[in-house]
Amino acid sequence: MTREPLTRAALITAALLTTACTYDRPGKGPLNTGELAKPAASAVGDDAELYHQAAAILRKYPLIDGHNDVPYQYNRRHHNHICEMHFGDDLAHLDPPMHTDIPRLYDGGVGGQFWSVYIPSTDVTGVTPGDAKRVNEQIDVVYRLIEQYPDHMELALTANDVERIFRSGKVASLIGMEGGHSIENSLAVLRMTYELGCRYMTLTHMDNATWADSATDEPQFGGLSPFGEQVVLEMNRLGMMVDLSHVSFDTMRDALRITRSPVIFSHSSAYEVCRSPRNVPDDVLAQTAANGGIVMVTYVPAYVNETLRIWYDERQVEIDRLAEVYPDDEQAREDTLRAWGTQNPKPQPIATISQVVDHIDHIREVAGIDHVGIGGDYDGIRELPEGLEDVSTYPSLLVELLRRGYTEREIRKIIGGNILRVMRVNERMAEELRAAEEPRSVRIEEIDPPLATE
Ligand SMILES: [Zn+2]
Repeated sequence: MTREPLTRAALITAALLTTACTYDRPGKGPLNTGELAKPAASAVGDDAELYHQAAAILRKYPLIDGHNDVPYQYNRRHHNHICEMHFGDDLAHLDPPMHTDIPRLYDGGVGGQFWSVYIPSTDVTGVTPGDAKRVNEQIDVVYRLIEQYPDHMELALTANDVERIFRSGKVASLIGMEGGHSIENSLAVLRMTYELGCRYMTLTHMDNATWADSATDEPQFGGLSPFGEQVVLEMNRLGMMVDLSHVSFDTMRDALRITRSPVIFSHSSAYEVCRSPRNVPDDVLAQTAANGGIVMVTYVPAYVNETLRIWYDERQVEIDRLAEVYPDDEQAREDTLRAWGTQNPKPQPIATISQVVDHIDHIREVAGIDHVGIGGDYDGIRELPEGLEDVSTYPSLLVELLRRGYTEREIRKIIGGNILRVMRVNERMAEELRAAEEPRSVRIEEIDPPLATE
C-alpha cells in the first residue's frame, strides 16, 4: 500500500509546529535558588513564617512526587503531539486546566517527578495486543519533553541521579509504568522497559492484570498468579520497584510475602482514614514498614475524604440505576443525574489539605515516619482537595505539616528522603540478584492455569 504524498500545506504546518516548539523555553527556574510562589492566603492562613520555613526546606531537599499523568494528557488531548501544548507555558488556563507545567513545577518546589506512562487497559481479559507499543509511545513522550526542555528536565535513573539533577536546579524526571497490562505477559518486555528507564511498575490498574487482582475488579487469582510472582521476582532482579497502588489487598499481601526489595505505593492513602479499596489497610501498612517500603499519600479526593467517598458511592448507585432505566437514552441519564445532584440534600463534600495530612499522620502512627511519601496523581484526576489544586501548591502541604509539629527532619523524609532510600535499596538488591540469578524466561502459559473467560 502506498500513501498519498503530504501536501505542501501539510508539510509547512508540520515544519511550523517543529519551530514552534523550539522558541518556547522558559528562563532558568527558581527551583532551589529563588523564592517559591506564594500560595493562596486561604490555603495557609496568614502564617508567613511557616511558609518561609516550608520554602526553605523545599530549596534544600528534593520533593519527589510518586505519580503524575502529564504524558497521558498529551495522549488524550493531542495524540502525543507535544508541540501542541507547550509544557513551558502556563497551562492553567486550558479547559479543562492542566495541573502541571514547568513554571508551576518550579513554583511548587518539585525536585523529582515520577511521570506515569499510563495507557488504559482496554480489554477485560487483561491484555490487548499493542499495549506494549502504546506504553513505548508514552515513554517516548517523556523522552521528547526532556529533549524539548533540557534546561529544566533531565531523565533520572537512580537515586544519585535525582539528587544531582535537583542540585543543578532542574526537575529530575523518573518514569513509572501503571498497570501490568503494559508488558503484555512478557518478561522480555519488562526488561526492555527497565532499559528505557522505567523504575516502577504498578502491578494492575483498575482492571485485573492477567496475573494479578486489582482493587477495583472481581478477584480472579486471590492475589498474584504463579506468573505474577515471577514478575515480582524479576522486577526485584532488575531493580524496578514493585508498585502496589491499585492492586487488591490480597495482591498487596502476596507481593509483600515474596518480594526481596522494598515495595512502593506510588499513589495510595490510608484505608482506616478513608475506606476506599484503593487505600492501604493497617495490616499492610505494618507489613510495608517491615519490608522497608513506602506509601506515597495521594490527593484523589474520593480516597482522601470518607464522607466524599460515600457521597460518590451513592451517586454511583444512582448512575447504575439510570443505566437500567434508560439503557439507550444518554440524555435522559444525564438530565436525571443532574436533577439528582441538585435535589440531593447532601451537598458534595470537599476534600482538604488537612484531611490529606490526616492520612500522613495515620501512616506515621502505624508504619512509622520512614514509610510515608507523596504521590499526588496530578493530571490523572479532575478534582483535587481545596488548596492543592495544582503542582505549585506543595508548599501548602508542608505548611500544614509544620503546623502539626512535624520537624524539618521528618518533612525531609516524607517529601523525598524515604523514596530515595527505597530506590537505593532496590538498586543494591538488584546488583546482588543480577550476580546470583539468570534473567527469567518463563512464559505465562507454562505456569498459570488457562484464564477463565466469560
Ligand atoms: Zn492511578
